[in-house]
Amino acid sequence: MEASEKRWFHWAENMKSILENELFEAFAAVSENVYIYVCDVKTNMSRWSPNAVSYFGMESEYIEDAANVWGKKIHPSDINIYNDDIGAVFSGEKPHHSCQYRAMNKEGDYVWLECKGTMINDENGEPFVFAGMMTRLDYQNKYDSLTGLQTIYSFHSYDFTDKKGAAMLIGIDNFRRVISNYGYAWGDDVLVSFSKMLKENCGEDIMLFRMNGDEFMIVAENASQEDINKLFEKVRCEARNISLDEEKKASISISAGAVIFPENGETKTALLNNMEYSLEYIKSENKGNICFYSGKVFERYRRIQMLKDDLKNSINNDFKGFELFYQPFISPKSGKIKGCEALLRWKGEKIKDSYPSEFIKILEDSGEIVPVGLWVMEEAMRQQKKWQEKYGDICISFNVSYQQFMHEDFIDKVIKKAEEYGVNPTSMMIELTESCHVEQPEALARAFTTLISQGFQIALDDFGTAYASLEMLKKVPTNFIKIEHSFVRELAEPGHEIDYIIIENLLSLCRRLDCKAVIEGVENEKVNDITKDMGATFLQGYYYSKPVCRDDFEEMLKKDSLKTDVKKL
Ligand code: C2E
Ligand code: CA
Repeated sequence: MEASEKRWFHWAENMKSILENELFEAFAAVSENVYIYVCDVKTNMSRWSPNAVSYFGMESEYIEDAANVWGKKIHPSDINIYNDDIGAVFSGEKPHHSCQYRAMNKEGDYVWLECKGTMINDENGEPFVFAGMMTRLDYQNKYDSLTGLQTIYSFHSYDFTDKKGAAMLIGIDNFRRVISNYGYAWGDDVLVSFSKMLKENCGEDIMLFRMNGDEFMIVAENASQEDINKLFEKVRCEARNISLDEEKKASISISAGAVIFPENGETKTALLNNMEYSLEYIKSENKGNICFYSGKVFERYRRIQMLKDDLKNSINNDFKGFELFYQPFISPKSGKIKGCEALLRWKGEKIKDSYPSEFIKILEDSGEIVPVGLWVMEEAMRQQKKWQEKYGDICISFNVSYQQFMHEDFIDKVIKKAEEYGVNPTSMMIELTESCHVEQPEALARAFTTLISQGFQIALDDFGTAYASLEMLKKVPTNFIKIEHSFVRELAEPGHEIDYIIIENLLSLCRRLDCKAVIEGVENEKVNDITKDMGATFLQGYYYSKPVCRDDFEEMLKKDSLKTDVKKL
């Protein structure tokens, strides 16, 4: 035994008792978020500080076989880390225990701990006392450095037991877009000013936390649903006109998911989850509003989870369930089909009725749109080649989101696959969807330049809706714009003269920029009569055909049925 170890041993031996001494009690009271334990290895009895007993809901200060009892509280993913480390100390491989893991507190929530301990051996080198401390890591981040508000960690230490009230999770709508358009510094200014405004509106009795990123939580004890609705309304109004400094103002839109406790959840985790589900629900259904947790919200959450699993299965199962539908591009001059847009459809094993706007959003959020998008591209190319051989020139377009374009080897793959399938790039059109999320227009411009130099046609989709459309036209090279339905659908209705003026001007802009145009959303004869002479390259819409499956589209091509409709044009 080394000299220092000897000293420790004698110190331990001289204690009144290993578990009963003032030193333990003094250390045990040192800090709210540090927990002390000491174990008499010979008897396998240990003593834990009172704050550990109450926070982790242990049966008593004195515990037999603590390694086992404590082990049950450790997160299943972390238990091996704990067992390996403690095992090495007890087998004498190393003198100190030191690791980080999650353990469940009495609320049923996992918290991160840093656990350190030391083994003291007796004169024979046998383990004698094991003592140490655990520090709650979340306590180090109690306050948010940007806004000064309490953080999610403080929220986790708030005790909901026997309390009644309401809580809401507020999210800033489209915050990512704010950052991408105005930069991070502006985003920080918005968060600081927004939290100041929240503080002023919440007063003393309401607790306010900054959660992750652009989300804030309000917990109001004894508040009712009506109180929360009123508070949300007030905050929503003020958010529309926030002062960032003496000169700068910002207008932001917010949504909120809310719960009543204890009715909407027995644990903090359940309440937090239910607020998140409600926030997600309202953001997708009716942005800018508040939604209280309900069965409908839960149903929606369940559906999304099932969709995620089902989509994953389809992707792993060689894209089973995915299919392309085709909607014709019509030449307004000849009335003939000149091409089509390939539109993705999907039927899962469990969910059979998901619309593209629903499942594509999930694919985009998970990044799975990248492999699925490649499948779409290959399928469209394969089809183009077949139809070209049978029916002559036909241009097939497919949709690509910004995220896909920015994926490292997407451009190379487009070029390689066109070669592989023997497709002429001039017969492939690539539509950029959601042009407003473009964060790096220079990189996108480079990608478009490469594709255009190979002969591919590039189109900006939904042109006119995203407010960045005109800026996009300025920054990236393009061959086509697709004029969005919303300007077209009601063109023939009274009071929609402005739509006509917008379309006419967009077409004139295209001519001057040497860019072609597709008018989408040609739904009926009246709209067709107006748009056919406006000078667009193609018309697209339900008037000609809804998107149809491959065989039906082939039938249309075969009969070239629309040729007879020229009279209408
Ligand atoms: P989009 O690119 O704007 O596609 C046109 C959408 O308008 C299609 O909806 C189509 O069915 C619909 N539509 C066509 N004609 C008319 C009309 O006359 N009136 C009305 N009201 N609607 C019409 P769909 O197929 O549900 O697609 C929705 C969106 O999903 C597409 O909008 C596109 O953004 C996205 N999408 C579809 N396929 C893909 C894909 O393969 N990849 C990606 N990234 N997105 C896709
Ligand atoms: Ca499109």
